[in-house]
Amino acid sequence: MTRELSARWAVQPQGVVRRGFAVTATIYAAGPLGGATVKISGVADCLFCGIAGGEIPATRVLESPRTIAFQDINPQAPVHILVIPKRHHQNLAEVAEAGDGLLDEIAAQAALVASNSGVAETGYRVVFNTGDDGGQAVHHVHAHVLGGRSMGWPPG
Ligand code: 5GP
Ligand code: ZN
Repeated sequence: MTRELSARWAVQPQGVVRRGFAVTATIYAAGPLGGATVKISGVADCLFCGIAGGEIPATRVLESPRTIAFQDINPQAPVHILVIPKRHHQNLAEVAEAGDGLLDEIAAQAALVASNSGVAETGYRVVFNTGDDGGQAVHHVHAHVLGGRSMGWPPG
């Protein structure tokens, strides 16, 4: 279902006595079913927040309370799945620092993805590209699970 969202911002001068401005925002959401539902989630302009929130389509293969796993759009191996936390963390250091078991959950889901994809026995690689030199293009932490072929070492 497509919903139309529009926002109107009004700036109202408060006069000499109070000085300054009050800013009000009015958000309207209208759809075929009526009612107004505004869903604001994730970090603006973050692709993987969009996928986690369902606003951007992806082929999901697994979900846990705090993570989702989906097919990489440009697979580098017969099995190439990304595991991400639903909440935005920029990189491995940030998610580790949170210290709330989320990193364990991501690792467990990566292992489960490998098992479900049939590569647990033959072997697979789990990669967290981090920062520019690490080749991280999407700054929402993600574990690449790659398998189904022999991996080279050192990586390029
Ligand atoms: P990075 O280079 O940040 O470690 O990896 C980002 C990964 O996200 C890449 O492997 C890339 O193919 C994948 N990717 C980029 N855009 C999309 C998308 O819109 N959907 C999906 N499923 N994967 C994406
Ligand atoms: Zn994000």
